[in-house]
Amino acid sequence: MSRYRLLPTLAQQAVLRDHCGHARYVWNLAVEQHSHWHPGRKSAPGYLKQCRQLTQARADNPWLAAGSQTVQQQALRDFTRAMKAFFDPENPAGRPSWRKAGRDEGFRIVGRGWQWDVRRLSRKTGQVWVPKAGWVRFRWSRAVPEGVKSYRVTQDRAGRWHVAFAVIPGPVPAPGNGQVVGIDRGVAVSAALSTGQRLHCPALTGRERTRLRRLQRTLSRAKRGSNRRGRVKHAIARLRARESDRRKDWAEKTSTGIARRFDVIRVEDLKITNMTRSAKGTRENPGKNVRQKAGLNRGILRSGWGLLVRRLEDKAPGRVEKIKPALTSQRCSACGQVDRASRESQAVFRCTACGFACNADVNAAINIAAGHAVTARGGDGVAGPVNREPHLLLPSV
Ligand SMILES: [Zn+2]
Repeated sequence: MSRYRLLPTLAQQAVLRDHCGHARYVWNLAVEQHSHWHPGRKSAPGYLKQCRQLTQARADNPWLAAGSQTVQQQALRDFTRAMKAFFDPENPAGRPSWRKAGRDEGFRIVGRGWQWDVRRLSRKTGQVWVPKAGWVRFRWSRAVPEGVKSYRVTQDRAGRWHVAFAVIPGPVPAPGNGQVVGIDRGVAVSAALSTGQRLHCPALTGRERTRLRRLQRTLSRAKRGSNRRGRVKHAIARLRARESDRRKDWAEKTSTGIARRFDVIRVEDLKITNMTRSAKGTRENPGKNVRQKAGLNRGILRSGWGLLVRRLEDKAPGRVEKIKPALTSQRCSACGQVDRASRESQAVFRCTACGFACNADVNAAINIAAGHAVTARGGDGVAGPVNREPHLLLPSV
């Protein structure tokens, strides 16, 4: 997702505000219809039935009919998709909830080429076509990625408009070199490759972190509902957004690079969400070392590991293999001996049997690359099988 500052004229702003209002109305209508639904009841209306209801609603409400049908139908489709994610046992998402005016303002447009398009106007300006609003200018702060299919326009609480283009990355062709790579998620570094390469996911700079802490202190002292509080909250949200943008950029570039260089990509089968959720434990069964785990978990999240693996699965379908994580950090990748004492420190692995020494994360990555126990294959296998027997690449140190 790449986000750009949208610069609508006053007249266009009125149209965009209407679109937001309509999208929110339609979404909330769907939320309400589904709120009566619980397991055992007759099914809640599906997308087609809702479309008919939308037609009816448009006939009854001239203000809705005056708006863009494209925007309204898309809001319904988005809702249907959100419900599907909610019911997906593999990857459950939160239940789609009520959207509030002034807080969740936005709408989505799909169908590039016939519903919308994007073009560059000058070095610093681009234009995106919005139904009923026409060409709306935006700040061309970086190249719009190729192959964008849809976009979302949002208005933040400070009243500023943004457009975010969604990129659905296509699979990257396998290089066909038979090479396999193991990747270990680290905490100090974000990921270590079995080739010895270590990857750092960018976070906030030291100065930005200091600023964030200062803002958070100010926020805790600011009076509820005051202008100052609003401003501070906004500044915090911007810093967080910056961090998350950087992480996403990094995951995009890194995953593309890895998918291009290796035929088979092996990662540990970690249920990241489980790890991050379970540290606290339950009241009956409180977790151990909650503090330390919380720190580690923050690190994992910050490192963007989960995002990287998802992206790899998108870009290298059928080529990502999940390995049982048992002992990968205690096993010597040179002689196979398993000994906890070999893990000299967070960073250093030194085998107690053969003396092999290596960066601890890289050692684990080599074990992962060896892939003793594949538990699952990610992706849907579109890329097809790799025709050569994969072989290991060892670090060139
Ligand atoms: Zn050894």
